[in-house]
Amino acid sequence: MGTVQEIRIAKRTGFCYGVREAIDKAKEASAAGKATHTLGQVVHNEGVIAELEQLGIQTVDALDDVDHGSAVVIRAHGVRPDVMERASARGLEVIDGTCTWVLQEHKELAKLVEEGYTIVLLGTPNHAEVVGMLGFAPDAIVVDEEDDWDKIPRKKRMALISQSTQPPWKFEKLAAYMVSRSHELKIVNTVCPVTIRRQEDTLEAAREVDKMVVVGGRSSANTKELTRLCGIAGTPAIQIEGVRDLTDPSSFDGVRVVGVTGGTSTPIEDLHAVARRILEMAGTPDVAARADELAGAALALAATPAGRTTSLPKAAAPTSGAA
Ligand code: SF4
Repeated sequence: MGTVQEIRIAKRTGFCYGVREAIDKAKEASAAGKATHTLGQVVHNEGVIAELEQLGIQTVDALDDVDHGSAVVIRAHGVRPDVMERASARGLEVIDGTCTWVLQEHKELAKLVEEGYTIVLLGTPNHAEVVGMLGFAPDAIVVDEEDDWDKIPRKKRMALISQSTQPPWKFEKLAAYMVSRSHELKIVNTVCPVTIRRQEDTLEAAREVDKMVVVGGRSSANTKELTRLCGIAGTPAIQIEGVRDLTDPSSFDGVRVVGVTGGTSTPIEDLHAVARRILEMAGTPDVAARADELAGAALALAATPAGRTTSLPKAAAPTSGAA
């Protein structure tokens, strides 16, 4: 018999504003009758991609796959400047969904290059956002985990900048490491505030529950970081891509309160579905019978306007409790 009595969803979850805006732009273009494509997956979430496909929005890997005259949406991660130029040269209508925060990173990088700094970029090599950033500073040295850091040279004037979703503690540690390797060190903190808030709220939830469920893409760095933080809080955590991965009720044996959180590509509707499924399969009989109601209540308690799934005025109403 199930033991789960309560579910708590971390506050300020759901899409980050960058992802939300890019998806909305694609939907708007398609609603306006344009043949719409997104360059790369606009969000790493199968359900959302399927929904976009139903609206006729296709994901393409390369500009060559887009017909002349069609619209191509640049996702929140942004792209190298030459990709923008090639898209225009091919006669495509470019809809720039690059997150405003990432656009700011691009500007900062261009400025650092102009000022002659040796740039160190904290980021995941080959991640789309990092690839785009390198378009503005091709000589930047990309480093990720601590083992990488000894490749950072000693230079007179160095600058440190970050991919938006890097954990703040890592950025601070790297900044401290670089102090001794340069005479002048310029630190441009581009860790996204959404990432920071999400990590704080996940930690807070993890401290209050017996077990955490983290929902997000397997390869999503920000999702992995949330799982790691649950471990730091001393709370066992499982990471899943979605409700389909919840098949084993025994993983909640003896657990009374479960916390649910999600990465920046996970819509709040997915968190609701996960909460409901946990209650159904691992709740006490009374709780399991009221799973839908209790999951809705948990979402209503957690949902904030920042976590909404769309900013479009006439979009279908999201799951109850979503602002
Ligand atoms: S995590 Fe932050 S910087 Fe990255 S897309 Fe979302 S809002 Fe923009």
